[in-house]
Amino acid sequence: MEEPGAYRCIECSRKAPELYKDYQRGVLRISICVTSVSFYFAGCNLTSLSKKILKSCQKPVDKYIEYDPVIILINAILCKAQAYRHILFNTKINIHGKLCIFCLLCEAYIRWLQLQDSSQSTEPDDLIRYAKEWDFYRMFGIASLEQTAFLIGIFTALWLARAVVLTTKADFTFLLKALLLSSYGKLLLIPAVIWEHDYTHLCLLLIKVFVLTSNSQAIRVTLNTSRKLCLVAIVSGLIFENAIISLFQRIGWNV
Ligand SMILES: [Zn+2]
Repeated sequence: MEEPGAYRCIECSRKAPELYKDYQRGVLRISICVTSVSFYFAGCNLTSLSKKILKSCQKPVDKYIEYDPVIILINAILCKAQAYRHILFNTKINIHGKLCIFCLLCEAYIRWLQLQDSSQSTEPDDLIRYAKEWDFYRMFGIASLEQTAFLIGIFTALWLARAVVLTTKADFTFLLKALLLSSYGKLLLIPAVIWEHDYTHLCLLLIKVFVLTSNSQAIRVTLNTSRKLCLVAIVSGLIFENAIISLFQRIGWNV
């Protein structure tokens, strides 16, 4: 049983107790986002209760519960905030960790492939095989460090802005999960490289832009904040990521 207010309205991001009402005998009705009245203590005086009316959008809390997953995915690809709210708040998708590892493996594979193209070796077969295997692990480590730097950059910008409520560990974890989930666009790296053509580099650039846009939308939806702050956070993440890349290049690692 979900706790009250565990869901969110996908239109106005207001908390909702349930997504639908079950009237028994197979009759279900989607809940409507209604104006709620909450009581809170005004100031330090605990005896003075004040009434706060939270205006709502009067629309269905989550119309996507009736939609086909393919439609929801298309809406998510189009970066619609409603689809993001549905996925992040009203579903129990728990593939963040696995998706992150798989995306990093995709990135490591792309880098490893480009490294193989650029290097010609005259070493014996066994040595080449071990060296190639080591190269793949190295690329995976580098991709992981870059991803970590990008996330640290985002959280640093949000922390410095102080405008966002990131007070509890749960807020932090939820945003981290949203960012990892919204990086699903990296899965497109594999087909972009497998079907290699003259525009591969352009495709890789477009995938990067798509992933950043998706990350930005995830921050906006999760924290219910402005586009400007999301942009600042993403730019900060990119700065941290590029700082790590230039550090690796100084060390002499081919990234
Ligand atoms: Zn609403």
